Amino acid sequence: MKLTFLGSGGGRFSAISQRRMTGGLRIDNLGGKNYHIDPGPGALIRTYQFGFDPRNLSGVIVSHSHTDHYNDAEILIEAMTRGMTKSMGTIVGSESVLNGYEQWGPCISSYHQTKPDKIVLKPGKYSQLNNVKIKGTRTEHGDPTGVGFQIDYRGFKVSYTSDTAYFDGLADEHKGADILIASVLRPGNRTINGHMCSRNFVDLINEVKPKVAVMTHLGLKMISSNPVTEAKKISKRTGVKTIAAFDGLSFNVNYNNPKRFRLISLKDVQSSIHSTDHSLYESERKNSYQLSFKHNEFDELAMVRKRR
Ligand SMILES: [Zn+2]
Repeated sequence: MKLTFLGSGGGRFSAISQRRMTGGLRIDNLGGKNYHIDPGPGALIRTYQFGFDPRNLSGVIVSHSHTDHYNDAEILIEAMTRGMTKSMGTIVGSESVLNGYEQWGPCISSYHQTKPDKIVLKPGKYSQLNNVKIKGTRTEHGDPTGVGFQIDYRGFKVSYTSDTAYFDGLADEHKGADILIASVLRPGNRTINGHMCSRNFVDLINEVKPKVAVMTHLGLKMISSNPVTEAKKISKRTGVKTIAAFDGLSFNVNYNNPKRFRLISLKDVQSSIHSTDHSLYESERKNSYQLSFKHNEFDELAMVRKRR
């Protein structure tokens, strides 16, 4: 499994200014399937820019009805369904995202909902998404139906808080996470309605005790106050390896020892993509799950477990 941040910015102003990119997050080769999570403005472009292919997605997951999370969802759905010609893939979204709730959403048109399967995520509700279990988790945020989620792949758990304030019980929602990814908008103690600051993230990490924590969805104040230093402070206070996401951050997850990984900083390949067919082919090849299949990485966890 590989995690790639096609953007590490979040919040209205970070998104409008594009001080950090807002393309969301990709999980590739999760049991041989690829997913795009919270594709904000620029997600399609960032996909190509970092050498991925939107056509090899098996799912698009949208946590709530804010532009910095859903903006590019429909075009990715078109990529996933071969331009809406094939019934394939799954859209996973909150009630508001798929059906609309009060003034929120729907963020994906009924036309775009005709081809893929649909899963409405609700806090505490488990669904089967291909070969993984996905549970909705509670948030306290502007969109009342907004959710985070926890993915369970044969006992290995990746949790994503999405946008939420810290509240009593947030840790219970993400209990057991091996990797905890959180939206941490502001540094230090600077709380803001509906979002976490670093201090909140420290509390959450101390309660959840993941193997690795990643903070993303960084707001302007966080970006200006050096997120890397901030993450180091959090690591020190919690004893849990904490990473501040940056645009193009990628790492392969080692299921047996999640703490061991090498951070990769993806290069912008967009310019070469438009100049030669050769490099387009190369970058597609590198990231296609067909290739992982060929290399027997298709079910990497099963293989690792068997070997032990
Ligand atoms: Zn939001």
